[in-house]
Amino acid sequence: MMKRKVLLLGATGSIGKQSLDIFKKYVDSFELTSCSGFNNKEALKEILHTFPSIGTVYCSFEVLSYLKNDYPKVQFYSEKDGLESFLNHCDFDLMVNALVGFIGLKPTLYAIEHDKELALANKESIVVGGELINSLLLKHPSAHLYPIDSEHVAITKCFMGRKKEDVESLILTASGGPFRDLTRDELKNVTLQEALKHPSWSMGAKITIDSATMVNKGFEIIEAHYLFNFPEDKIKVLLHDESYIHSLIEMKDGSFVADIGPHDMRIPISFALFNLNYERTPVPRLALDTIGSLHFRKLDEARYPALNLARFALKEKGSLPCVLNAANEAANLAFRENKLPFNKIEEVIENVMNSHRIIDHPTYEDLCYVHKISLEATQEYIKGAK
Ligand code: NAD
Ligand code: MG
Repeated sequence: MMKRKVLLLGATGSIGKQSLDIFKKYVDSFELTSCSGFNNKEALKEILHTFPSIGTVYCSFEVLSYLKNDYPKVQFYSEKDGLESFLNHCDFDLMVNALVGFIGLKPTLYAIEHDKELALANKESIVVGGELINSLLLKHPSAHLYPIDSEHVAITKCFMGRKKEDVESLILTASGGPFRDLTRDELKNVTLQEALKHPSWSMGAKITIDSATMVNKGFEIIEAHYLFNFPEDKIKVLLHDESYIHSLIEMKDGSFVADIGPHDMRIPISFALFNLNYERTPVPRLALDTIGSLHFRKLDEARYPALNLARFALKEKGSLPCVLNAANEAANLAFRENKLPFNKIEEVIENVMNSHRIIDHPTYEDLCYVHKISLEATQEYIKGAK
């Protein structure tokens, strides 16, 4: 494969760092020309040191002031210039979007509009802008979107060599998060430290909390709908404690196809970076004979109201998934800042969603507006609820 120029957004985050691990191993396949990292100056400095090929960087103005003099040949951009101006100055074939939150939507649309390859970890882009993204992909057939989320990579692998019409349903596996054995009542007093301890994956703070509330799995239902074009009621969720089965598809003859492997994001990241091809990864092998048993349990959707909220947003479509995402961003942050108890997160989201008047087929500008007013409405609601 030709050496491709890469723009890595969110280089200092969990997915970003694991992508860098792959770029280090495959210097003949990838040339990292540009990256973004927001406010972790030491991490960004280390990246610039390790990858002298980087010529363009986006970071906070504070970090820019700290790094600029040490790297006179690098062009720096900050929030003062805006993300779009940075994107316009990047030279890349492949964008890896590992930003967290709504802010990832703009670069996702940008990559497609400019006929680039896009390895997409930022699932919020698809949740918020799924319709927009799919209609842009139709207009830009030479652009490609490769998901990074482990469940969606697993399903992509399961589909290979199979006909879509033979597939009856998609089954997303869920570990259930750190509180899977607690009742709703017992969720009242859980702490941030407990919520940040995911049973199988080590990830950024926001998605770890989203996994504990199951908002993450709700987002993944929406993501699966837009990526694989399956109706909401054909996308199921199954509790699977060990997280070795990354997802399954159910075939019309009654058999299942599953993707099994270690829980290490470098495997799905590598599959996306190599355009849906299997490559060697630096991941330790999983010895299946040491696993013992695998467990599956029915998911009690009443125990996890976030799943119903996501299913509802997906059925209603329009601007409602954007409200779901914004209310969750604000509520998730409020929990992390000790301003909202864990078991109120879904209640807050539901209330903000209920008071929204849906805009059908929203444009990017509509989504920015809805995102902003929904963040504000959520913050107000949280203040009032205290
Ligand atoms: P993270 O918090 O570890 O990293 C986020 C990155 O975004 C950081 O580099 C940060 O500097 C940057 N960033 C944050 N706010 C910014 C802003 N305002 N402007 C510019 N940059 C900003 O997050 P993560 O866990 O790596 O997750 C990234 C995305 O990947 C999320 O959408 C998440 O849902 C998805 N994802 C993550 C995992 C995982 O294992 N971590 C798995 C599946 C999907
Ligand atoms: Mg996932």
